[in-house]
Amino acid sequence: MSDVDGTLCRIVDRPDQARVPARARESLEVLADHLALVACITGRPSPVARKMVGAEKITYFGNHGLSFIKPGESRPTVVIEGEEAERARNFIRDNDNPFWVTSKIRIEDKGPIQALHWRGAGQRTEEVVRGIADHAQAAGLATHWGRKVLELRPPGMEGKAGAVDELLDGTEIETVVFAGDDRTDYEAALRLKKLAETGKLKNLLLVAIDSDEGPPELVELADLVVAEPEEWIDLIEDLAGQASGPPAGAAVPE
Ligand SMILES: [Mg+2]
Repeated sequence: MSDVDGTLCRIVDRPDQARVPARARESLEVLADHLALVACITGRPSPVARKMVGAEKITYFGNHGLSFIKPGESRPTVVIEGEEAERARNFIRDNDNPFWVTSKIRIEDKGPIQALHWRGAGQRTEEVVRGIADHAQAAGLATHWGRKVLELRPPGMEGKAGAVDELLDGTEIETVVFAGDDRTDYEAALRLKKLAETGKLKNLLLVAIDSDEGPPELVELADLVVAEPEEWIDLIEDLAGQASGPPAGAAVPE
């Protein structure tokens, strides 16, 4: 299980310009042939994540657990629908104004989640965003802070922790490798840790991609800390090589 932005690719000023290296896609495809589950869990809408990563054989859990798309499916399954799914978009429609643009706030429409990005803007913009967050909370939305991004979410959603549950539910998966870089990944990592403590998972490897902007708790919790996405992709490549090669010590059939 891997996050995408900041984990499989570097964070860039404009989210639409983020690129996942081809070698990551290739290794994820190899792993998908050998493992019970390979999934990207991301804040992006799941079809967008699939386009970015490019691997066809894996599952994409998008919008921080609000929708997922499985291999071979053409449209995502939405976990939340109705008025709650529209609340963030309605808030943006009712409150967006030219001052946001001059403050260098960029809105990303992720359906039930609306993201306000301010990478490249200054301290004053952060204060503006704080004001928007207060207002959104008063309007019944949940606010979630990431790396230079504020997300307005429907209330009561479990985020990536919910996605992790949904992915593992009903499976016999006992071994999980998870990687992420941000606060929302920390919530998923905590959930996985709990599953390991209660014995549902037998083996868990938590990987954190360290950054100045990421939560220190994630680095603290992780079994392995890497400095950048390329190092995590190196590990994915290693795992793919091991999965596709003969198991160590296995008898070669006659
Ligand atoms: Mg990330």
